[in-house]
Order: sequence, then C-alpha cells, then structure tokens
Amino acid sequence: MATVPTITLNNGVQIPQLGFGVYQVPPAETATAVQTALEVGYRHIDTAQMYGNEKGVGEGIRAAGVDRGEIFVTSKLNNGFHARDDALRAFDQSLADLGFDHLDLFLIHWPLPGIDVDFVETWKAMEEIYRSGRATAIGVSNFHAQHLGRLFAETEVRPAVNQVEIHPYLVQDDLRAFDAEHQIVTEAWSPIAQGKVLDDPAVVRVAERTGRTPAQVTLRWHVQRGDVVFPKSVTRSRVEENFALFDFQLSEDDMREISALDRGERTGPDPETFNHVPR
Ligand code: NAD
Repeated sequence: MATVPTITLNNGVQIPQLGFGVYQVPPAETATAVQTALEVGYRHIDTAQMYGNEKGVGEGIRAAGVDRGEIFVTSKLNNGFHARDDALRAFDQSLADLGFDHLDLFLIHWPLPGIDVDFVETWKAMEEIYRSGRATAIGVSNFHAQHLGRLFAETEVRPAVNQVEIHPYLVQDDLRAFDAEHQIVTEAWSPIAQGKVLDDPAVVRVAERTGRTPAQVTLRWHVQRGDVVFPKSVTRSRVEENFALFDFQLSEDDMREISALDRGERTGPDPETFNHVPR
C-alpha cells in the first residue's frame, strides 16, 4: 500500500495529505463508507456538524478496528453556533456523537461575515477548546485574507489550516499564497468540483498521457501543489482509485495545462455573501 505523505501544521501536528470527505454521505451509509475508506488505507476523515453524520464516522472507525490514534479526524463548527457558549456546547456534542475524547482538527466552517456574532468571538471560543487539549489543532474554512487578517490582529492562536474550495476551475492562487505566507496549510474542498472537471478535454488529455484516470490526475495536481485533499465517494472502486496517487507524477507541462483551466467558477457559495444560519 502506498504511503500517504504528511504535512506538518504550524503547531507541529502532522496531517495526512490525502483524506476521505463525507459531505453528502447519508448518515445511515456513513459508517460503511468510512470503514471502506479505512480498509483501503485512508487515515484521515473530514466531516462536519452540518453533514449530520458524525455518529456514522465514529461507528465506522470503531468497526474498522483501526486505532483511533492512527486516524486524523476533522470536524467543523456549524453555522448558528458562533456565539461562545454555543460553540463550546456544539464542540462537546461533536465529541459525544463521534464517541471520541478529542478531535485532531476543529474548524469554523464558514466566517458568516454578515451575522450578528463576529467570527472573532467564535475564534476565541476555538482557542479555549484548543487550550483544553481536546482539539489537537484548530483552523478555519472558507476564510478570505481579510477575515484571517482580523484573527491575526485580534486573537492569539494562528489557524493551522484554511479549508477552501479549490479545483482546476477555481485555482485560488492568491489565497493559497496568503495562507502559505502566514504558515497556514491550505486544504482544497470539492477537489474534483464534484465531478465537473472530469470530462474537461484538458484533464482527459493529461489522463491519457499519463495512463491514469481524470480523477487521479486532478487529485495528483492538488497533491503536487502542496494542498491537502479529501475526495468523497461511496463507491469502493472510486475510493480505491482516489487513493492511488503516490506512484506517479505529473510533468510541469501537465501541471500547467490543468492550472490553465482556471475560470473563477465556484460549485459552492461565496464566503463573502454566504450568511445562512439553520433555524
Ligand atoms: P468532490 O470534488 O470530492 O466530488 C465528489 C463527487 O465526485 C462524488 O459525489 C462522486 O459523484 C464523484 N467522484 C468521486 N470520485 C470519483 C471518481 N474517481 N470518478 C468519478 N467520479 C468521482 O466533492 P465534495 O464531496 O463536495 O468535496 C470533498 C470533501 O470536501 C467533502 O466530502 C467535504 O469533506 C469537504 N467539503 C468541505 C466544504 C466546506 O465548506 N468546508 C464544502 C464542500 C466539501
């Protein structure tokens, strides 16, 4: 089994560069999907309170019989829980649902810049959680440079990661450079744009040249750029395909051809205007 490289976060914690994402995996199917991923070799799971499937993640990990200590688990604070006390309670609920005594990484899912709770307050609650030792690292998701700049100016702990939408149609080079300049690791969500990039002629050309699939060359493009990825699939053959990224390389020309597909196209909401809070 190929070894997945790890990346060192700004507090010394190691994160596997490839993980398994469970967004849109129905709660009843999550335990089986996670167990399959662990059997294939994944040791990093990306979930969120919003996905409603943390219980399944915990069950799948226990069913696979892999030591908790060998698995890197991320969850994210749901929208609607940004006030300090709500954030602390929601974190406790995540641990209870997962059946764990700690998370490897806990993120603010969205900045929600238009709501009446300032995300700086939320980050201070994240710092409390971090200092309690129950989250080994903390970070953010969907934060832009100006949101991060406020955290740098008004809080103490530097986020370890920023998880944002990135794929060949949205390469996000400015935000990635900003993260890197501030020792923040970038994680790429929807790395294959939920499948949309897979029949792009350029991606197909690179796949034919390398003898790999469109999903593999797209995921390999992320890996060579240095980002963390966690593609989602509930189909075992695809889960295996998406794991086989470490026995080939893309040339500089291959990399350039895929990067040239950038057209600023999002599959998800724009963090500047997304302020949805569940009722
Ligand atoms: P993705 O880019 O991983 O695409 C997943 C879809 O692509 C699957 O539903 C499947 O239909 C298809 N697919 C997967 N592997 C394939 C293969 N080998 N061949 C053909 N088709 C394949 O999209 P995603 O699930 O949105 O993103 C991945 C993960 O990122 C999520 O599961 C979640 O953990 C995370 N995420 C985070 C946020 C956030 O706001 N922080 C938002 C979206 C996703």
